[in-house]
Amino acid sequence: MSDANKNRFIVRRNDEVGRFAVVSEDLKAGDLIFTEKPFAYGPKSDSPPLCLGCYNALEGTSLCSKCGWPVCCTECENIPCHKENECEVFSKAGVKFQPVEDASAVCLQYECITPLRVLLAKERNPERWEKEIAPMEAHLKERKDKPLWNFNQVNIVEYLRGPCKCDRFSEELIHTVCGILDINAFEARAPSGYLIRSLYPNLAILSHNCVSNIVHSIECTGTGDKDDYNVSVRAAVDIAKDGEIFSSYTYSLWPTLVRREFLRESKYFDCKCDRCSDKTELGTHMSSLKCNRCDNGVILSTDPLDDKCEWKCTHCDFSTNAVAVKKVFATIQAEIEAVEMMSDSEGVEARETIFRKYRSVLHPKNAYMTILRVALSQLYGKAEGYTMEDLPDLILERKVELCQQLLDVLDVVEPGYSRIRGITFYELHSPLLILARNQYSADLIDKEQLRRKLKEAVDYLGESVKILKGEPSTTLEGQLYQVAKQGHDQLTANFDLLVETA
Ligand SMILES: [Zn+2]
Ligand SMILES: [Zn+2]
Ligand SMILES: [Zn+2]
Ligand SMILES: [Zn+2]
Repeated sequence: MSDANKNRFIVRRNDEVGRFAVVSEDLKAGDLIFTEKPFAYGPKSDSPPLCLGCYNALEGTSLCSKCGWPVCCTECENIPCHKENECEVFSKAGVKFQPVEDASAVCLQYECITPLRVLLAKERNPERWEKEIAPMEAHLKERKDKPLWNFNQVNIVEYLRGPCKCDRFSEELIHTVCGILDINAFEARAPSGYLIRSLYPNLAILSHNCVSNIVHSIECTGTGDKDDYNVSVRAAVDIAKDGEIFSSYTYSLWPTLVRREFLRESKYFDCKCDRCSDKTELGTHMSSLKCNRCDNGVILSTDPLDDKCEWKCTHCDFSTNAVAVKKVFATIQAEIEAVEMMSDSEGVEARETIFRKYRSVLHPKNAYMTILRVALSQLYGKAEGYTMEDLPDLILERKVELCQQLLDVLDVVEPGYSRIRGITFYELHSPLLILARNQYSADLIDKEQLRRKLKEAVDYLGESVKILKGEPSTTLEGQLYQVAKQGHDQLTANFDLLVETA
């Protein structure tokens, strides 16, 4: 068996959590644990209408010559994932795509696509279904009381069983597939940049923890070849034999109140992990607020596992409650989301404005300050008007500060070989290189100090190379790895020259 196909995990089971996975040998950070093929993949819920072959946004009204649903071209029409799935069903039943006015808005006609692909994969691979998919949680009981149930009943169950003539699939089975997808599918980024969802049976066995100890990367070429959307799972940190492996089903940079609410609403469980149970989120203070009644007080939850409890200042007698804190978080989150798509100079300024606005309300390491730092640390040096050559020393120093404060938090909540740490080390190295040279030419540091500073910057770049090494070349991180590797090789080979010619 080749190294790449060797699984280094074992599935265990206990009454409390059901299935979970442990590693079968001692692993070092970066080691491959397993790779697997998706059972099925396709558009997310609430997706705009995308090409059903490559998931590109629709331009014009190019339709499949066989089924009449959106694809970009003949090549996309022949990608097996479309051709062998909904294309056959829609053609046979004569169900046509109804043209939409706004191709960027949610398209209800797309809700049925991925559930249908799962159902057809079940027919093709009954054994794999029984063994790998049927044991997955679908939480039908909890879902029956939600508005989502009726929505799925109309848009998926009745649509597939009626117009699409797929009444060989029972109502209950279709709802089960919808539940399995919502709870177990992972997001994957198509080459077009759009997110789709993909079902990985082994990856889904991993229990949730708000601090994951693995990284998963999805290979996607968009050509529909046999390895498209394969996932590889690596150790993010060293893991000893028999150690449990965890993935995170939520966004690791959200504060506890928001993560737990998301997990409760969409995955139907109350997270009680070490991070959620700790008032300071393992010392990161991602949930903490500043007290404005006293000088150095920090406002903390009195019981992080109770989302209605009292929150108290550590220094004075000020108190509030979780409901009020959640409102503050929701307001800030909405303001950040409103500027999410802005990646130009206005985007930089809009985020700095939010940053300043909440500096007196939030702890410096609060989740939302952290989320703003992620964007700002990458936009300084990239956004128009803020490219590396444009940046004065003051802003280069700001970029360094953003990266370092960010890494302090990431070291705890996204430890080890996480993509975001790899990217942040990359962002950190370039302003350090420029600052060192500027300081040397302004006679602020001597040659020995210059050498030390340059060495530090090159080492950070090396760290980035090490972390991003496992990323598939089709992803943005994989492309960043190539750039970082080339830069690191050159800087290392010419290091003495770099010092001498500064
Ligand atoms: Zn396409
Ligand atoms: Zn078609
Ligand atoms: Zn948790
Ligand atoms: Zn106080």
